[in-house]
Amino acid sequence: MRKRKRVNGRLLTLIAFLLIFIGACGDSSEDSNGEESLNVVVTTTHLSDLAQDIGGEHVQVTGLMGPGVDPHGYEPTPSDIDAIHQADLVGYNGLHLEAMFIDIFEKMEESNSEIFALEDAVREEDVLDYTYEGKDLEKDPHIWFDIDLWKAAAQLTADEFSRLDPAHEGAYQANYEDYVFRLDELNKEIEDKLAELPEDKRILITAHDAFSYFGENYGFQVEGIQGINSQTEAGTGDISLTADLVIENDIKACFIESSISDRNIQALIEAVEAQGASLEIGGELYSDALGTDEDEAGNYFDAYRTNVATIVDALK
Ligand SMILES: [Zn+2]
Repeated sequence: MRKRKRVNGRLLTLIAFLLIFIGACGDSSEDSNGEESLNVVVTTTHLSDLAQDIGGEHVQVTGLMGPGVDPHGYEPTPSDIDAIHQADLVGYNGLHLEAMFIDIFEKMEESNSEIFALEDAVREEDVLDYTYEGKDLEKDPHIWFDIDLWKAAAQLTADEFSRLDPAHEGAYQANYEDYVFRLDELNKEIEDKLAELPEDKRILITAHDAFSYFGENYGFQVEGIQGINSQTEAGTGDISLTADLVIENDIKACFIESSISDRNIQALIEAVEAQGASLEIGGELYSDALGTDEDEAGNYFDAYRTNVATIVDALK
């Protein structure tokens, strides 16, 4: 009986130490002043990275999609839906990028939940149409490749954080100013790197059409075998037309994408070889998902720089 009491006493001491230890570790949902941070849930890796840069220590960002995930085809899991419903604020790209989330987000918007879409940051006339065989099919959702549109996305993100957490508005707006400065620096770096590539070599062939904004801004003809949506099938006609383009323009390389199957790119290479020419894979591009820090593509800026270096080095 006596012995048992001693064990219980030690156990209680151990539990007390553990509780103190856990308390000292702090709560990751608090900032450095111990104030509760804003719980923000977003869809894509690009938006997750943007939200972290704008929110800084005052925002706890949960990104539902990781590196290599294709947002066109990603289906929300039950834990994603829980996270969405527990968030203080939900953010998504829109323009039908996250196709499998549309019903969930529309219901949230109807019920006045705290939710924002980057598509609301951009003017309709600045959004590219995707045209195929002369028909307007849809709007191009890959707005992160247009640095001016991405500035507008950053402004909306800072405004949304400020609206829900006005005590830290100054920090959010300062982070936005810094972000814009870094985007301008990035744009200069891109222009310098692209100066190495003659204009007649600026033809970019990828698995799906993610790079139209990039092409529009930096003078590239862009050909995505699969069209704008990675979920559509490429026909043999698409592949043979692209193979003709490769041969007519003596294009050296095409590109695979980290979030898309390379099946159509392999079919294109075979179609080019069947005509006695050759086409190499110029590298992997980070189109609809960022990569990791090990790939030098773990954030928006590194991924953009890595993409441009891959394109220029393969095509020049
Ligand atoms: Zn895409």
